[in-house]
Amino acid sequence: MSRAFNFSAGPATLPEPVLRQAQAEMLEWRDARASLVELSHRGAEFIEVAQQAEADLRRLLSIPADYAVLFLQGGATAQQALIPLNFAEPGQAADYVLSGHWGKTAVKQARPYVDVRIAASSEAGGFRDIPPREAWTLTPGAAYVHITANETIHGVEFRGAPEVGEVPLVADFSSSIASEPIDVSRYGVIYAGAQKNLGPVGITVVIVRRDLLERAGQPRADIFDYRSHARSESMLNTPPTWNWYVLGLTVKWMLDEGGVEEFARRNARKAAMLYEVIDGSGGFYRNEVAPHARSRMNVPFFLREEALDKLFLAESKAAGLLALKGHRALGGMRASIYNAMPEEGVRALAEFMRDFQRRHG
Ligand code: PMP
Repeated sequence: MSRAFNFSAGPATLPEPVLRQAQAEMLEWRDARASLVELSHRGAEFIEVAQQAEADLRRLLSIPADYAVLFLQGGATAQQALIPLNFAEPGQAADYVLSGHWGKTAVKQARPYVDVRIAASSEAGGFRDIPPREAWTLTPGAAYVHITANETIHGVEFRGAPEVGEVPLVADFSSSIASEPIDVSRYGVIYAGAQKNLGPVGITVVIVRRDLLERAGQPRADIFDYRSHARSESMLNTPPTWNWYVLGLTVKWMLDEGGVEEFARRNARKAAMLYEVIDGSGGFYRNEVAPHARSRMNVPFFLREEALDKLFLAESKAAGLLALKGHRALGGMRASIYNAMPEEGVRALAEFMRDFQRRHG
């Protein structure tokens, strides 16, 4: 048996050395005579793993000291509900900029808790662009401005943090965290489910500027209170210890590989390979996202003839290229090419696509 190239959008491919190390350490943790999965989250062994993972993530993303890093459960979706509960007063307005499907889920989760204002949306154009900054209508006194840094389904990505003045910028980085250097200080809150670039599903990272934790927010249970999680170092209740550990291994691997600068170079090359094939196919493959907003993590594309979709999926799978089916909301194909996807995997896909067109075009 051999591992194929897996283009899944998430849970997504992990670096093989990470999986191998996790496998090797599964049965017995160092000299603990038990698996890490079986050890208390309050014990010295796990505390060391947890603290190392946080320190490494801080280094990888250059997170300033005045930001707290939380390791939580509930996925990015739970954070989309917790953000208004923690940072908006009852009835306060919050601005949402929509550039794809996940911005809409953020709105859906926030609606019960906040006066949602759609500051801008590219939905009328089929989410093929970031709404231009000049066209945003921001609400004076809004609790925050929410954006989706990378839209995993529509393949639309911000280039850098938009200017929003004094209002904190809240960004869903689920599918692009650590894909390139970012200036964390431009954001009030960054959140990301781990299952694309950071490790296994089941753990979610929230990076929050500490002064925002002073906000009263709304009545909420302790378990929904970011302050309590920050105070207890994400050990308010039992954290997902195994996921936290594998996240730590993945972050360490990214540091060893050269950090986010190196991944930005690799990701630019990888994305360019696929967009080149698509754009050079004379319409056999199609991606209609505005070039300046094209995602470097998720490349959605359509075949000219939908009737060929099934064959494309069957042949690509047989060629060792997995999970290329597009999200059901959009159809077509999608190649997710996160940090752990090697350049040779993308090259193999690009060659397969050219060959498929030669045979069926
Ligand atoms: N935001 C984005 C950008 C995503 O890609 C996803 C998952 N694909 C989510 C939010 C939802 O994440 P979760 O399933 O972890 O709640």
